[in-house]
Amino acid sequence: MTNPTPERSCWCGYQTLFPYSDDYRVCKACGTLVSRAPVANTADQASHETGLYSHDYWHRRQREHHGLPDIEARARLDLPERCTYWLQHLLQAKLPPARVLELGCAHGGYLSLLGWAGFSSIGTEMSPQVVEFARKTFCVDVRLGTVEAQGFKTESFDVIVLNDVLEHLEEPLSTIQHCASLLKPDGLFVVQTPEYKEHLTYTDLSAAQDLFLRHMVNNNEEHLYLFSRRSVGELFRRLGFASVAFGNPVYSYDMFFTASRTPLRQNSPEAIWNSLSKRPEGRLIQALLDKAYESNDRWWAIQRFQKDRP
Ligand SMILES: [Zn+2]
Repeated sequence: MTNPTPERSCWCGYQTLFPYSDDYRVCKACGTLVSRAPVANTADQASHETGLYSHDYWHRRQREHHGLPDIEARARLDLPERCTYWLQHLLQAKLPPARVLELGCAHGGYLSLLGWAGFSSIGTEMSPQVVEFARKTFCVDVRLGTVEAQGFKTESFDVIVLNDVLEHLEEPLSTIQHCASLLKPDGLFVVQTPEYKEHLTYTDLSAAQDLFLRHMVNNNEEHLYLFSRRSVGELFRRLGFASVAFGNPVYSYDMFFTASRTPLRQNSPEAIWNSLSKRPEGRLIQALLDKAYESNDRWWAIQRFQKDRP
């Protein structure tokens, strides 16, 4: 008779977890929902052919399990939507040239936009087919495997991006600690992840048909840790990133934040324009951002042209 698989404990190290739903327990010490899915065999999880994040994840599983378009469609649909939003936000925190690493970059569209904006960008993915897809589709630098396996130099990146990745990590504390070692002293994390709102019970979520349930129901083998604002603050503060600043997320069920060792300065639209307009590709990026944020940028455009008049 084999021993049952031990239940996953909280990333924060606290041992006592309380029931939350059929699929999750809650850590009241830090405010994280912890999946009850069996702890994966590391070798299985990392398998590029059969692991959870293999080619199949981005094709059949996206359509059938998540009801989302597959990676081919996403490579077009994401660009004017989430990728543009992420880029606008990043430019407010960091101007090119700078070195950006994106964990779990999928089709590579965001890496491509970063490159056009003047950043040097590298991504990681877990499936050789997806790596190949990104390389062929967007001519971007994507590496196969986990971030820990890449041998990146310490303090070699200005920005590390985790969009819809943190909740998937089997060991978030050690992976983020490794990433922190790759960041320069003034480097920053940019993170999008589902937001567990601590004041809501599972009964509340169900009664309201809350969209956050999409991250929980039939999904706990993917979403191993669902963080609250309190728990991501705790995670990044433990690693020396004391300044955690929350922005508006693209989707209401997510949170979106930067984490840095010291508070960030916000770049003005003028400073962003001055940086982007140095290169033709940067001007195309500015046009994309202007189109997406027409009302914001029209005022700045008028200011610029009035100022430039004789
Ligand atoms: Zn905890």
